[in-house]
Amino acid sequence: MKTWKMFVGGQWVDAVSKATFDDLNPYTGEVYARVPKGDAKDADRVMAAAYVARKLWRATAPRERAQVLYKAAQLLEGNRKEFADVLTAEGGGTFGKVMFEISQTVDLLQTAGADCTRLLGETFHTDPTKLSMTIFRPRGTVVAISPWNFPLILSMYKVAYSLATGNTVVLKPASDTPVIGLKIGELFEQAGLPAGALNVVTGPGSVLGDALIGDDRCSFVALTGETSTGRHVAQTAAAKLKEYTLELGGKNPLIILADADMDYAVSAAAFGAFLHQGQICMSVGRIIVEEPIVEKFAKKLAGKAASLPVGDPSLPTTVIGPLINDDQVRKVNAQVKEAVAQGAKLLTGGTYEGRIYRPTVLTNVTHDMQVFREETFGPVVSIISVKDEKEALEVANNTVYGLSAGVITKDMQKAIFLAEGLEAGMVHVNDSSIDAEACVPFGGCKWSGQGREGSRYSMEELSELKWVTFQKSLKPFPF
Ligand code: NAD
Repeated sequence: MKTWKMFVGGQWVDAVSKATFDDLNPYTGEVYARVPKGDAKDADRVMAAAYVARKLWRATAPRERAQVLYKAAQLLEGNRKEFADVLTAEGGGTFGKVMFEISQTVDLLQTAGADCTRLLGETFHTDPTKLSMTIFRPRGTVVAISPWNFPLILSMYKVAYSLATGNTVVLKPASDTPVIGLKIGELFEQAGLPAGALNVVTGPGSVLGDALIGDDRCSFVALTGETSTGRHVAQTAAAKLKEYTLELGGKNPLIILADADMDYAVSAAAFGAFLHQGQICMSVGRIIVEEPIVEKFAKKLAGKAASLPVGDPSLPTTVIGPLINDDQVRKVNAQVKEAVAQGAKLLTGGTYEGRIYRPTVLTNVTHDMQVFREETFGPVVSIISVKDEKEALEVANNTVYGLSAGVITKDMQKAIFLAEGLEAGMVHVNDSSIDAEACVPFGGCKWSGQGREGSRYSMEELSELKWVTFQKSLKPFPF
């Protein structure tokens, strides 16, 4: 078992208080690593380090920043196994999930490298006596706060694009997956990033979050986490008039119309609901099915769910690994039990051993049940029957969330009606609600967040837009 240090100003250091906390393996329950437990003093120290590094990093040529990002991509690709082992040991990710996450992160780093030289301002053809244009400048220091479910890529969206835009960055990884954050520190150290441009501080978000965001040297906050955390972070940032992006929770619908290919629909639903044990912001939580096919669909999905291999995530054949911690097991189980007590029908699942929760399919779910309204973040999906696409749209939009949605149909008129009408930041036709690429605007509306991450959307969010004019000759003023 390794004891880690934090990465501050290019040095590996203990917490100021010397306190540590245990990072657990969610499958075995054993201590996987020991990690520094930072507090307000560590927040002060890390913000100071990031502040000192600002001048140097913002003056670095964009193509030099790109070289660091390309090098980090190359190192990550070359050390897949090392990163995969961490993602499985502390995050419970199965082989397929962690390989997918690493490939996507390599792509993200390469895309961010290419984006370094593509932050394009405008010129305005207004008054011929002057040149008038917009330029982008780095914001300063970004505080990046990431979750445990896709801890590598969701940290990297913030880190890579903060660095690409010439900001220094302080990464605060989730306490269930702190080591992957520290590995990101190592990766950039090896890639030749100057000291202090990236810093990684570990410890409880409830303590470090306010201290980092409230610090005057923090210029921007990029959070991925629960909606309740987002609301708190937004209030803390707004109190100091700081800007932020928030990538938050979801209760994503998958609409299946009667003309859908049945086997395809079942596969899309199972993938969307059960990948990474349903612990994805984009996971399918509600499957809304047209009445003529609902019974057959539910039976087939339940059969598929019951057949998925569950267990040790380090075995390449496992599809369903553990939930991240005991609190999550309790929360998932409580939602299922409440739904059943209120009249939902359990087709399969609803039981667990240790932290392995069996893939669960519910029907007869009503809008007042928690399992319909609230994010579950577990391998649980509800099937709701509707009479047509209009009712499907109403049911899908009957949620406070608005992250992602899927639609399965061969009818393009209905697909367009749904794609336009769904209240979500992302809609995928003939796919599940799970999709992400570095080059697209990733994010949601309503309680699922504010702002977008990815390529030029991150480049612009993480930069200050400035209007600049140059008078061609001295102009006469009226007085
Ligand atoms: P979480 O909100 O508990 O924690 C996220 C991060 O915020 C962690 O680093 C945590 O330490 C920190 N944090 C906690 N309290 C804080 C506070 N008071 N101030 C500042 N930071 C604080 O979320 P989680 O359990 O790690 O992740 C799961 C959640 O993230 C789910 O709701 C999921 O939908 C959401 N998520 C959203 C997206 C997206 O892109 N929209 C992607 C992945 C996960």
